[in-house]
Amino acid sequence: MPKILAFVEQRGGVLKRTAGEVLGAARRLADGGGSGEVVAVLIGHDIAATLGAALGPLGADRVRALQHPSLAPYSGEAYARLLAAEAALAKPDLVLFPASAMGKDLAPRVAAVLGVGLASDCTALEAGAGGSGFAATRPVYAGKAQLKVGFAASPAMASLRPNVFTAPSAQPGRSAVVEAVTSDPGALRDAVQSLVLAASAKVDLTEADIVVTGGRGMKGPEHWGLIEGLAAALGAATGASRAVVDAGWRPHAEQVGQTGKTVSPSLYIACGVSGAIQHLAGMSSSRVIVAINKDPDAPIFKVADYGIVGDAFEVLPRLTEEFKKLKG
Ligand SMILES: Cc1cc2nc3c(=O)[nH]c(=O)nc-3n(C[C@H](O)[C@H](O)[C@H](O)COP(=O)(O)OP(=O)(O)OC[C@H]3O[C@@H](n4cnc5c(N)ncnc54)[C@H](O)[C@@H]3O)c2cc1C
Repeated sequence: MPKILAFVEQRGGVLKRTAGEVLGAARRLADGGGSGEVVAVLIGHDIAATLGAALGPLGADRVRALQHPSLAPYSGEAYARLLAAEAALAKPDLVLFPASAMGKDLAPRVAAVLGVGLASDCTALEAGAGGSGFAATRPVYAGKAQLKVGFAASPAMASLRPNVFTAPSAQPGRSAVVEAVTSDPGALRDAVQSLVLAASAKVDLTEADIVVTGGRGMKGPEHWGLIEGLAAALGAATGASRAVVDAGWRPHAEQVGQTGKTVSPSLYIACGVSGAIQHLAGMSSSRVIVAINKDPDAPIFKVADYGIVGDAFEVLPRLTEEFKKLKG
């Protein structure tokens, strides 16, 4: 009967999409090992009443909402301190995080405080052989190999790659006990004074369900309207290869790959991208990959589910037109 602590990410009082994915994985593992318990940990300011009730229907049995005005902006030091204390109190078998930007910062800090190991950016997580412990799978060497990880210390700790674990549909009849806890993190070595958000109406790349990426084959920034047009027709985020970012055509925030962002959308459309191993490292776990490239031997076709051998300048306008028609 495993007890699982699931860190649920919120920003600005809004639950991130990974909340459902982490809780879904926790619920599946808790149920697989008998009727285990899933405790969701939310950290922020004034979040218990607004967000707590949403977590029961997603799989939590209990919600610990740790609240304090100083916790409104994310602070790695404060969040890690509180989460480590929660883990020491609850003594879970497993602690889960999303491998989002926040989770990637937070999980190693908590693991270090507790003195346990962490399997980061996992693409699969199951009960260990014979039902004891847990076994995680994580891509290594830019996705060229899959590592199976066991855990020697308790609690086991893992972060889950966004968009790989399916979030369950919310069950409205299911509810969790929500405990609002005033949690002053105490003196911190650094404090966030203010947070300036980039003004963008675009879909967040790491959370997007569909990503349209352009590579050097797009020839220049003046042609990005073709990428943005298809993305707008699909409600997608836009990405870029490193060649494009290095050339200054697109900002680094859009770079997908080993030295950029890791994405796992339901649909990834690569346009004029050759498919270098460093690019594949950031997108090969996408559910469906479509490649548009005029070179039939481009490596991207090796990972693509659907390939269009053709000139992106001809294919993109036609695809965009067809998707617009489909959307009505
Ligand atoms: C340490 C390290 C880290 C790296 N990290 C990253 C990373 O995070 N992300 C990343 O992307 N790369 C990364 N790279 C770079 C990577 O090795 C490649 O150089 C890069 O991905 C190539 O980008 P590209 O596919 O856009 O360009 P190219 O390799 O030049 O490919 C362009 C493609 O466009 C096609 N094309 C040309 N014209 C058209 C047309 N009209 N229509 C259709 N197709 C056309 C060509 O056939 C070609 O396949 C890294 C490299 C190193 C060494």
